[in-house]
Amino acid sequence: KQDVFGLLATRMGLAKRPPEVRAVEDVSLRIMPGEVVGLVGESGCGKSTLGRLVAGILPMSDGRVLHRGRDMSTLSAKERKRATLSVQMIFQDPYASLNPRMRVADIVGEAPRVHGMVEGGYQDYVAGQLRQAGLDPAYKERYPHQFSGGQRQRIGIARALAVRPDFIVCDEAVASLDVSIQAQILNLFMDLRDRFNLTYLFVSHNLAVVQHISDRVVIMYLGRVVEEAAVADIFKRPNHPYTQALLSELPRIDVRRKAFSAIKGELPTPLSPPSGCHFHPRCPFAMPRCSLERPRLREVAPGQRSACHLNDLN
Ligand code: SF4
Ligand code: MG
Repeated sequence: KQDVFGLLATRMGLAKRPPEVRAVEDVSLRIMPGEVVGLVGESGCGKSTLGRLVAGILPMSDGRVLHRGRDMSTLSAKERKRATLSVQMIFQDPYASLNPRMRVADIVGEAPRVHGMVEGGYQDYVAGQLRQAGLDPAYKERYPHQFSGGQRQRIGIARALAVRPDFIVCDEAVASLDVSIQAQILNLFMDLRDRFNLTYLFVSHNLAVVQHISDRVVIMYLGRVVEEAAVADIFKRPNHPYTQALLSELPRIDVRRKAFSAIKGELPTPLSPPSGCHFHPRCPFAMPRCSLERPRLREVAPGQRSACHLNDLN
């Protein structure tokens, strides 16, 4: 168990009152060192909430986050500070998360300075961090508004990397960028992973983006994990009807389209999710049992788990 880097969380919920919403329900996630896990679903499915819970930004009403096999809530204050720094988050809109009144040097350098992580001179440290994120070190005197979206995301990445994390949660980190810039930023993420042995949880609504970068994919629907598998298996033999629907919406991907070319209907509100299988009102294969009984995640092939009653018929 000690050799698992990962984060394991069970029965995580986010209590909001009133009324109580379980944004994430019975989710267990285990991530190995160096792994890139893509977390995919429509907006409102709880994937951002799960990412924030894992990163320790949101409190959990019920559940645990394990960091290198240890329960985060049982760490001493000093250990927790170190563990919190080692998990960083990168957001969709870098502009909103960069203080417009701070120079790039301080955006990137402040946290490492406060935490005594700067080696050598401060200016050199900041310049090194910028260079590593593909930015001209001379940019450190400038302010966030002077940059393009892609450059701002690089600043956000430099800030996250400056405290030497080993685990990064990316929440729609390329979603607001042009496609050509997206590819550059995804390549940067991969380069940084190789250089610093990073592990990623890559949250995205876009299966095509996740395919590019992930080793393993976790599919969420209305707060629950419905399928999880190696990236190649998700694309070759998706098991869950919801996964099949997501794949059928991707252009230029050859999937055996058993049933439908688009997901029918709106995503129901998480305030009152459908009974049984949350997906049943939209599922072309729904059976009477589906509205009565919640399907459990179970192994359908080596390394592939899916939560669908159809698997009991085989
Ligand atoms: Fe569809 Fe039933 Fe499977 Fe849910 S359990 S995905 S409703 S067939
Ligand atoms: Mg989101």
